[in-house]
Amino acid sequence: MATNRTFTMIKPDAVENGHTGAILEKINAAGFRIVALKKTQMTKRDAETFYAVHNERPFFGELVEFMTRGPIIAAVLEKDNAVEDFRTLIGATNPAEAAEGTIRKLYATSIGENAVHGSDSDENAEIESNFHFAGREMF
Ligand code: UDP
Repeated sequence: MATNRTFTMIKPDAVENGHTGAILEKINAAGFRIVALKKTQMTKRDAETFYAVHNERPFFGELVEFMTRGPIIAAVLEKDNAVEDFRTLIGATNPAEAAEGTIRKLYATSIGENAVHGSDSDENAEIESNFHFAGREMF
């Protein structure tokens, strides 16, 4: 996959709270092109695999519980410098520390229920995109 792509999820909290449209609008306005998009729900096994890097952390159980409690929107996005620019658009992990105007500042409720995911490297963007989408679903 080209390195100008990133992977995102609109997390269960933001979907439940009706923020899907507003978040997609912000992503669009920031110049990201949608490569793939779907509404889906992660199983416990999906979430444990997706977040395996955190499996020793104290919040792991809560994170898996949260990410599986309802549907998410999964998407692959394309733009120059996608990974870094998307992390800037979403803001800090903890919404209390997120910059004004960022998606997490606007729509997240806590450090755990923080509205959106954004890949942290080109390598992880590719792994995460392939976790959720088949090659024929990315355009
Ligand atoms: N998380 C949490 N408690 C913490 C830190 C992280 O519940 O103290 C959750 C949160 O949903 C976060 C995810 O675990 O988005 C992954 O954490 P990471 O540090 O990778 O943050 P991100 O890259 O999502 O900003």
